[in-house]
Amino acid sequence: MSDQEKQARWRIEADAQACMGTGICAGVAPHRFQVVDGRSKPSTEEFPPDDAVWDAVESCPMEALRVRDTVSGEVLDLS
Ligand code: SF4
Repeated sequence: MSDQEKQARWRIEADAQACMGTGICAGVAPHRFQVVDGRSKPSTEEFPPDDAVWDAVESCPMEALRVRDTVSGEVLDLS
């Protein structure tokens, strides 16, 4: 892992309009997501890169999740 990757911090952005509350993200990465009032809610503000989060993003049937690198400010596309 490079120094840049070690310093990276991610933040999840969940689109409440698109989310259908399936709970898949919370099932894939329960340490990062919870479903509150039928909508996905990230349970941590910022965190180091986490493959489980990416699995959750890719599992969302509504494409309601994005991951932003809080250092660069960019939305990540790891596909
Ligand atoms: S997987 Fe997608 S649609 Fe389902 S709760 Fe999570 S964000 Fe919402």
